[in-house]
Amino acid sequence: LAKEGGKNGYRFYNDDLNQKMLRRMRIESDLRKALEEEQFEVYYQPKVELKTKKIIGMEALLRWQHPELGWISPAEFIPIAEENGQIISIGEWVLKTACLQSKRWQHDGLSPTNISVNVSVRQFQQGTLLTLVKEALQEAELVPSLLEIEVTESIMQNTKESTEIIRGLRDLGVQISIDDFGTGYSSLYIINQLPIDTIKLDKTFIDDMKSVDQQAMVRTIVDLGMNMKLKVVAEGIETDYQLNKLIEAKCEYGQGYLFSKAVRAEEIENLLQEAPEPDTQLALSH
Ligand code: C2E
Ligand code: MG
Ligand code: MG
Ligand code: MG
Repeated sequence: LAKEGGKNGYRFYNDDLNQKMLRRMRIESDLRKALEEEQFEVYYQPKVELKTKKIIGMEALLRWQHPELGWISPAEFIPIAEENGQIISIGEWVLKTACLQSKRWQHDGLSPTNISVNVSVRQFQQGTLLTLVKEALQEAELVPSLLEIEVTESIMQNTKESTEIIRGLRDLGVQISIDDFGTGYSSLYIINQLPIDTIKLDKTFIDDMKSVDQQAMVRTIVDLGMNMKLKVVAEGIETDYQLNKLIEAKCEYGQGYLFSKAVRAEEIENLLQEAPEPDTQLALSH
């Protein structure tokens, strides 16, 4: 009996593995046509000033609706796109789309907000990022200081090249933000070595704000950021408790479902329009 159970367990495991492999292969091959078949959409998540809940910017987040598999999370398909190189053309599309959208909001008389775009390490290694950013800014006639590029600590795989590109971006007037800050191995090295503007405190720190140790950690990182003249943005704020603890820790900015999830551009328009100028307050209805 034990033997049979083991056999079944083994087969289950194998089926599961096969399923995962098949899905991965499907995603990998379908990614190739997703762009031209317009299956992607850029959603936007507001970034707010914590004390006032005023919207200070948007983060562009890619969404993929697969015709048969439905919504697929970027956490699932971005790593695959990075591996097979598709991220280069997808990333280019996201950047241009987000810049044009930002310009459109401005054109419609909505208060100009900073727009952040995630850029993967693969795009940094490709050597054409600077040219691409210049093109995107020109096409959209966007003021460079309104664009922010979000990178993770993994860009430190190629310190020298990355530093040069970041310098180049900053010379253009573009802002640089370190995403998922505190989860990598080189957090201190990064803020010491790279000319950056913002650190985004990873959601894992915010998740556990009930722990006194974690609160101390957050306070320390916020202090560090302030002393280095960096903007600190907390990621993934879901509760009022977390919000209050962050304000106590003097963290100035944040994002999270408490304010809004990532939504379609039209919905952002409503969020911005609803609010009386110049006090663009977000309704705390979520
Ligand atoms: P990220 O850049 O760190 O983005 C934050 C992620 O956390 C987003 O997930 C966002 O929807 C989610 N989030 C925001 N607030 C909350 C909250 O309060 N609670 C919870 N549970 N989650 C929250 P999303 O959109 O699924 O993106 C996942 C990751 O995929 C992003 O992490 C980013 O690394 C990557 N990604 C998304 N779009 C792009 C893109 O256009 N280019 C590249 N290279 N990567 C992208
Ligand atoms: Mg990000
Ligand atoms: Mg992040
Ligand atoms: Mg993250």
